[in-house]
Amino acid sequence: MIDNSHLDAKLKRAIAHVLHRKGWTQQEIATYLRISRQSVAKHLKSSCDYQPEIIQAARDGKISLQSLAYLLGVSEAKARRILKQTPKEPKSRGRPTIPKPHILNQLNADPASQHLNAAPLSDTERALIQAARAVRAFAYAPYSNYAVGAAVLTDDQRIVSGCNVENASYGLSICAERAAVFNAIASGARNILAVAVCTPDGGTPCGACRQVLLEFAPEPDNCPVWVVKPDAIVRRYTLAELLPHAFRLL
Ligand SMILES: [Zn+2]
Repeated sequence: MIDNSHLDAKLKRAIAHVLHRKGWTQQEIATYLRISRQSVAKHLKSSCDYQPEIIQAARDGKISLQSLAYLLGVSEAKARRILKQTPKEPKSRGRPTIPKPHILNQLNADPASQHLNAAPLSDTERALIQAARAVRAFAYAPYSNYAVGAAVLTDDQRIVSGCNVENASYGLSICAERAAVFNAIASGARNILAVAVCTPDGGTPCGACRQVLLEFAPEPDNCPVWVVKPDAIVRRYTLAELLPHAFRLL
């Protein structure tokens, strides 16, 4: 599970509202934000003008430009324009700004999933994909500007996520897929049953990550790898398809 402890309560409340509008259950939000379900319920009960909260968090450097774009459901170019606008003084009177639900509803749209497979997504698959999309918001990718989120399903039915974290010394950067795998292993898992990866353009995992995923996938033929974008499912591969003739020592 990613460490979201650096986010303050107000920002967690704002993110909880966004995820709630995306159809996440309270339990999923609680797991994601590392807070209790009761806290989520409390957050959701209190009204929240979450857009200014999220924009301010981006201005303060608490979340990246990619995160802002994702959470507001706008392009990165638009998010950049939003950041350049002068912050408005909070109004002392008058009605609070009502967030426009249609912007966030776009995040739920998965047009490609309609024809992807005959079977609709299971709750677990949906949660896995949601986790990959959501954690992308926390990617640290100031050099490539290519934010990625990944999530893996462990054999004890947990969903563990990770994002890419870049470094000024480029070779020290790590991909989202490996971050997710290492998080899963560090939290006690040993087997990975399914993977979801969210990139801006539907890119597939790099070769290094395919090899790392294989290390913990006992059945690569039966290990789906969902490649998704923020607003659409691109394709469901299996790990065996992505890494044929794989190298193994165990
Ligand atoms: Zn990679």
